[in-house]
Amino acid sequence: MSFFFGGRSNKTFKPKKNIAEGTHQYDLMKHAAATLGSGNLRLAVQLPEGEDLNEWVAVNTVDFFNQINMLYGTITEFCTEDTCPVMSAGPKYEYHWADGQTVKKPIKCSAPKYIDYLMTWAQDQLDDETTFPSKIGVPFPKNFSQIAKTILKRLFRVYAHIYHQHFHEVVKLREEAHLNTSFKHFIFFVQEFSLIDRRELAPLQELIDSPHRQRTTTAGAAGPPARLRPAGSPWRPAGTQWILPATDGLRSGGSYGGG
Ligand SMILES: [Zn+2]
Repeated sequence: MSFFFGGRSNKTFKPKKNIAEGTHQYDLMKHAAATLGSGNLRLAVQLPEGEDLNEWVAVNTVDFFNQINMLYGTITEFCTEDTCPVMSAGPKYEYHWADGQTVKKPIKCSAPKYIDYLMTWAQDQLDDETTFPSKIGVPFPKNFSQIAKTILKRLFRVYAHIYHQHFHEVVKLREEAHLNTSFKHFIFFVQEFSLIDRRELAPLQELIDSPHRQRTTTAGAAGPPARLRPAGSPWRPAGTQWILPATDGLRSGGSYGGG
């Protein structure tokens, strides 16, 4: 397993996962891109008429993997063994890596190491033709939805880490509109098909529940929805209202082992 190959100037953390041109999934991906362009994310995430749900989830999961790959790629230089010795999402959430297959006993490791494990694992799933068949007529496995849910649940943790630990750096790089749009799309998608348990979303619940997040700021095309205080950061964007994460209902000091 190699870390950060491709160099820091390359904004892709892991090799981009491509959907082959000429396949039905490629058409679906094009459809998704076109409807996203309409600006109505709620509508854009809906299953297109007559399409197979597994195929739709597969195409979008690949897309989210690529988006997160690129977003995390922009901040890898700030996410190091020193800055992030544990994989956290704010002070209340810490994750230990286990994939349930080759790594069963959760490993406590730094965020860059955890994210490298996570993205490598996800990539392996996406590249596996028996799990993510790309050819027409090849059926999805019976447990496909479970696999997709696990991938999405884990990908969420990268967003959570970026928002809590690196949001100020994302803003410095002027990537916040990109991050916010990507995350909103991700949340709308997982909500549309109930793909992630609410308790898994707790580290960013405040952000997710915020109904006015597009109106709390004047900065950025999509408007930073991040009303969470980036952990340990005094930085506060102009026009953004801080709302401290609620303490009730949150798992205090909890750590999710793999899962
Ligand atoms: Zn980090």
